[in-house]
Amino acid sequence: MASVLLDLLLPQRCVACGFPGVQVCGTCLGALPRLRGPRCERCCAPTAWPVRRCLECAGRRLAFARARSAVVYDESVRRLVHAWKDRGLRHLSAAAAVVTAEALEHDGEPLVFVPPDAERRRGRGHHPAAALARELGARWDVPVVSLLTRTSGGARQRGLTLAERRANVRGAFTAARSPPAVVLVDDVYTTGATAHAAASALRRAGARRVEVVTFARAVRGYTVTTQA
Ligand SMILES: [Zn+2]
Ligand SMILES: [Zn+2]
Repeated sequence: MASVLLDLLLPQRCVACGFPGVQVCGTCLGALPRLRGPRCERCCAPTAWPVRRCLECAGRRLAFARARSAVVYDESVRRLVHAWKDRGLRHLSAAAAVVTAEALEHDGEPLVFVPPDAERRRGRGHHPAAALARELGARWDVPVVSLLTRTSGGARQRGLTLAERRANVRGAFTAARSPPAVVLVDDVYTTGATAHAAASALRRAGARRVEVVTFARAVRGYTVTTQA
């Protein structure tokens, strides 16, 4: 409710360029760095040529069959995601869904979303992953089901190493009985640790195939000031 009021009261400006009247303008949306070109089929990391496993995911046990993302998590996307997550700018969910649905095909599986951590749940009713899943569900005309629950508080992943992230989210989710194939939606794929933990819970709950879809993906070589 608070974010609805803020939407009405605050003058709207594009979060990226400051252009008045919108939360993000068409020019800035169009300029977001799309993940194009050869990628790893499994984890979506950009590669020199198409591969089924890459340096980033080879040897890792991942509970999801593949992960796909629409844009590179660079500085411009970081600013947008920050405004989306922390300022609760609701129109950005729709904008992120438009960009994601343009970039990725969908085969009709129901969507599930990564639930918010305790800190975020306490802070605000706004939850980007759920909002993105709802917007994508409407665009792809598929149901969105709320199957996942966090069992542990799970400290924020920000600033942790891969090993720490894995330990932090291990066993962090439980899932209600899952359809055999689902697509797990989240806002940002950083190391895949959260997606793996959530997909593990879905697999334990009956899913035979879990795919992951995120709006943005962290890519080595692109540096940002903080990790989401
Ligand atoms: Zn703009
Ligand atoms: Zn890979």
